[in-house]
Amino acid sequence: MSNKTEKIKLLSKEYRNYTAENLSKLVKIKSLSCHEEEVQKEVVRQMTEAGFDEVSIDGLGNVIGRIGTGNKILAFDGHVDTVDTGNIANWEIEPFSGKIDKDFVYGRGSVDQEGGIAAFITAGRILKEINYDRDISLLFVSSVMEEDCDGLCWKYIIEEENIKPKLVISTEPTNLNIYRGHRGRMEMHVHFNGVSSHGSAPENGKNAIYMASKVCLEIEKLNKNLAVDDFLGKGSITISEIVSGSPSLCAVSDYARIHLDRRLTWGETKESAVNEIEKLISGLDASVEVLNYKETAYTGLEYGMEKYYPTWKLENNNKLVTQAVSIFKALFNKEPKVDKWTFSTNGVTINGIHKIPVIGFGPGNEVMAHSPNEKTPIEQLEKASAFYAMLAESVSL
Ligand SMILES: [Zn+2]
Repeated sequence: MSNKTEKIKLLSKEYRNYTAENLSKLVKIKSLSCHEEEVQKEVVRQMTEAGFDEVSIDGLGNVIGRIGTGNKILAFDGHVDTVDTGNIANWEIEPFSGKIDKDFVYGRGSVDQEGGIAAFITAGRILKEINYDRDISLLFVSSVMEEDCDGLCWKYIIEEENIKPKLVISTEPTNLNIYRGHRGRMEMHVHFNGVSSHGSAPENGKNAIYMASKVCLEIEKLNKNLAVDDFLGKGSITISEIVSGSPSLCAVSDYARIHLDRRLTWGETKESAVNEIEKLISGLDASVEVLNYKETAYTGLEYGMEKYYPTWKLENNNKLVTQAVSIFKALFNKEPKVDKWTFSTNGVTINGIHKIPVIGFGPGNEVMAHSPNEKTPIEQLEKASAFYAMLAESVSL
């Protein structure tokens, strides 16, 4: 093992409590999507304290800490927003206590995914201490609004800030496995237009609910026949809502709308998914709409995108994936598991739209994401900080 590897391992161990404390401080500040201002102030404070070369906040409210001045960019991403607590009765510990014991940091956001941010801030501190001087600029991004609209923050960073990394490490929870993709998703409405008539004479109208119902049953069948990918699994579709309208409760319904949650596997795209539905409604007075997201960030900026979150994956033999595997082995003396997320991440715009390679590596178990009693092992925070520092020191882009 090289001197540098030893030094990084030693420092990540020495800073184990520092990392846990930093995570605890982030958990204590409630940070729902579009309300991240307070927690981002704490992230700025932590990055500054860790000795980052520059810390800035962009127009959408993402905090970007920089170390190094090289032309190529390696970025680490962690979204700082969390989902709400849900039913508080299901929590055994106070969700915003940020409680720390010998083994864990507890609370909302500890797994999904402020643990990744705490770990990469420590990695930055370690890199400054070992005099990081490679020709690669390191960007550490504490991003916003992910839980509401995955990928929106990186659409802003890439398209508005013109930042184009060679590789982005997503620090979403992977239980310290190396992840290289996930299914995409999209949200659609299907609108059905009927003709109303008096409820006493339905034969004179065209019932929009009947039109929609027949299509709903076809969608159930469609779900069974969607494509399968060996790595990412099967595409899926489900109806999450049906809404209808009528001039009166004594009239034939003249409007119906269904909301579709479509999960896209490899090879399935927005076009293919819309085409499938258009086939099912052909001949009907009906239309498909891909929905849009638009919200006001905590900075006051209104920003949005289409609710199409493309599928992405890197191949197993991708050079960046094999490098990540080697770095893992050098640090931890064992073979990592290379896998995929079940949920969706900012990778949808970074890789899915902009084709910038993304690799996932983060502390915490993804099964705890959005669940009560979230907790992250401090051991994993320590190891993640070592991995990020080692990757910055040795990856070739
Ligand atoms: Zn997340």
